[in-house]
This record gives sequence, structure tokens and C-alpha cells, in this order.
Amino acid sequence: MKKVLSFILAAVMLVSLAALAGCGNNSKTATGNDAASSAEQTENVLTMATNASFPPYEFYDEGTEIVGIDAEIAKAIAEDIGMKLEIVDIEFDSIVTGVQTGKYDMGMAGMTKTEEREQSVSFSSSYAKATQVVIVPEDSSIKTSDDLFADGATYKAGVQLATTGDIYATEDLGADRVTQFQTGADAVAALKAGKVDCVIIDNEPAKSYVKANGGLKILDTEYVTEEYAICFAKDNTELLEKVNASLEKLIADGTVQKIVDKYITAD
Ligand code: GLN
Repeated sequence: MKKVLSFILAAVMLVSLAALAGCGNNSKTATGNDAASSAEQTENVLTMATNASFPPYEFYDEGTEIVGIDAEIAKAIAEDIGMKLEIVDIEFDSIVTGVQTGKYDMGMAGMTKTEEREQSVSFSSSYAKATQVVIVPEDSSIKTSDDLFADGATYKAGVQLATTGDIYATEDLGADRVTQFQTGADAVAALKAGKVDCVIIDNEPAKSYVKANGGLKILDTEYVTEEYAICFAKDNTELLEKVNASLEKLIADGTVQKIVDKYITAD
């Protein structure tokens, strides 16, 4: 009986050992293969985090494709450095963290190079200049940005969360006069609904929004001037240098200007 029991036990142990070994082997092979193929894939894929609600820099065409100045410049860069571009659409305020933690290779979203962001990420050379402007209803009593910022003024501004427009407006007007929206389009919708008195946003998206919505205008006085650049994780200097070299080439040979001209027509 004892013998039978120990035989059974031994058999059970053998079976479990075999199973364990099998599992071990299987999972090892599986992980090995996966790791190899995903390494190959990620090596050739350049992931760009953006917020595709920022025309003409990034927005959806009639279908599901993200197009725009940033999308096309990034595509040209990816081609030039032998990578395949993959654009990921996320909230604007998640881009810097996503890039910083290595979830995405780079962030390109009409993003202004600021000292504060430079604490968390590195920036490429600048590829565009921009200004923060003020959108108001055509019949607004806000005639210049000075009216908005005057002592005693109570006008409320809508902004896109965590953008430079948000940062400057909150500084100059105080948080209680600023409403943050997830996208510029949401801020403009609130302006049209009379929930805010103006929207502070980058000049080119402002033009697109005013064109797409009747009854709005942009104040002549520009608010703040800034520069757009692509952000990278601080330790990813290799990619940053590659992209900078490529960007320099694409600016010099006129590719960048051609892309800009396709989306921004003189008016
Ligand atoms: N240029 C602004 C910024 O960097 C807005 C960018 C955006 O909304 N995509 O904060």
C-alpha cells in the first residue's frame, strides 16, 4: 500500500514537474518570440503623441485619419530616418507625461517650448512660430486684449486645459475668470453658448475655429508670441538628434514650408 502510494505520489510529482517544465518552456519561447518581434516592431515605429483637435496642425480628415501640418512633418521625418510613423490621439495634458515616461517616442501637438515643460522633457529645434490670440463674438464689448486685462474687468475666458493659453490666462486673469476645456473646440462651443466672453488660443487654430463658426472674430492685438517644437524623453538624446538633423534638412529643402503652405493660405 505504502509502495503504491509512493508510486502514485512520485507519478504525480513527475507529471507536475513535466507540466511545470512544459509551462516554463512554452512561456519562455513565447516571451522570447514576442519580445523579439515587438522589439523589431518598436524599433521601426515612431510613436507620436498628439491631440487631434488642433487644426491646421492636427485634426481628423473626413474619415479616421489624423492629418495636418504636424502629422505631415512627422511623416516626412519618419520617412527620412527610416521609421514608420504611428500617431496616437490623447488628451493634450497627458502628452508630456506620456513622452517623459517613454510610453510615446515623441510629442508633437503645436506644442510651445516652455521652460516649465523643459523640466520634464527635451525639445527639438523649433519648426513654427505662433501667437496666443483672443477670440470674441463679433459684437463683443472686448475691443482689445487690454479691455480683457484691465483692472476691475470681469470678462471670463475659455481655454484648453494645460495649454499656454490656459497658463497665461490663469496668471493674468486669475483662476476664477478662466474656464478650462478639454479641447479648443469645446472652448469655442462655450463661447458660442455665451458661457465665456472670449477664448484664448493659438492663432492658427483660432482662425480655423472662426472660419468654421459664424459670428466670431479674432482681436487684432496678439497676446503672447511663442515657438512650437517636438518633445522627447530627456534620456532619448539619440532620437532627438536624429529628428533635429532631419528637421533641419526638411526645413532647408523647403519640405516644411510646402506642408505649411498646403494648410495655411495667406489671407
Ligand atoms: N501651443 C499651445 C501649448 O503648447 C497649445 C497646444 C495645443 O493645444 N495643442 O500649450
